[in-house]
Amino acid sequence: MSNISNSFRVAVFEGDGIGPEITKPTLKVLETVSRRFEGFDLEFEILPAGAGHYRDTGSALPEESMAKARDADAILLSAIGLPDVRYDDGTEIRPQVDMRFELELFAGVRPVRFFPGANCPLSDPRVEQMDFVLVRESTEGLFAHMHDGKVIDNQSAIETLEITRDTSEKLFDFSFKLAQQRSAQKNRPGKVTCVDKANIFRSFWFFRSIFEERAKLFPDIEADAAYVDAMAMWMVQRPWDFDVLVTENMFGDILSDLGAGLMGSLGLAPSADIGLDHAVFQPCHGSAPDIAGEGIANPLAMILSAGMMLTWLGQKHEMSQMVECGEVVDAAVSRVLSEGKILTRDLGGSAGTDDCVAAVLDALG
Ligand code: NAD
Repeated sequence: MSNISNSFRVAVFEGDGIGPEITKPTLKVLETVSRRFEGFDLEFEILPAGAGHYRDTGSALPEESMAKARDADAILLSAIGLPDVRYDDGTEIRPQVDMRFELELFAGVRPVRFFPGANCPLSDPRVEQMDFVLVRESTEGLFAHMHDGKVIDNQSAIETLEITRDTSEKLFDFSFKLAQQRSAQKNRPGKVTCVDKANIFRSFWFFRSIFEERAKLFPDIEADAAYVDAMAMWMVQRPWDFDVLVTENMFGDILSDLGAGLMGSLGLAPSADIGLDHAVFQPCHGSAPDIAGEGIANPLAMILSAGMMLTWLGQKHEMSQMVECGEVVDAAVSRVLSEGKILTRDLGGSAGTDDCVAAVLDALG
């Protein structure tokens, strides 16, 4: 359904494990914040998909769910997957990854920031300035042929990595524009760092050469490059030095969990998978089956992802009050964390999911 008169339809996938536990309160936060601001409505439709759905019906992402998601204004997706629910080839069901391919969501945006009171493992005081965004290419790289990987005669296995010019150009342009936006917001110069392995692999040399070509179109933004192994070390030693990091799919998958670790918990790491027409917002973490049903999951990554959704919708439809709404959600989460009174167990506290959500609603006023 297309958007008519500022009513936005959000396709919601509750997911598996802790997924439903963090989705319901997130919808409550969205309803609360959207009531406070005039000028737009949100309409939610909960759609079936996931490992549990696959186990029960044989379909991980029903066609009807995919069609409705494609037609919605935005997609909010909770954690999906259960380690014991697998396809015959041994891999897990992964509709969240399939959706990135279906909807051509090439830019996986993963912000990494310092939150006071959030268990950051680094003690250097400069870590308070940590504020960068990892842009993970999300439709190709080592995931491009994930359905065609082969185990040969039980003696070897082969996977294929693919980089295309078309996707890389879109990815780099997106990253430079993001750096321009951040530079304007923060009133400081912007920088994009290409993270690759161009010293060893031709495909990454190709990736880097396209990066260098596109960088010339954005002379106001500094461009540099780093090898992924060194970047893993620098993210720990001096994460405050980075602004926008752009990288291949698998490298981005791994570095974004390192980023979540720097923030203090996977439960604080939001993400957006963005394409030219569609976007999916979901926490970086998985379905945490080890704590599912206990009421102790941290809902903040999901709530922050929902805030990113409001900002994205607001920017896309040029509605400043929606952008502001996204900022209000973000500020409410920051306030709960900096007060440090209501922290979930992953952050060293003892609060449950409901306590944490109540604190966010309270911080929203
Ligand atoms: P996971 O992220 O689910 O859990 C890793 C650890 O972090 C666990 O100890 C878990 O309890 C903790 N954790 C994660 N989210 C938390 C939260 N919100 N609050 C408190 N603690 C939290 O990773 P995993 O165990 O490797 O994977 C579990 C399942 O999730 C697998 O089936 C996997 O395929 C799937 N998965 C899905 C996504 C996704 O939907 N995008 C991402 C990663 C993993």
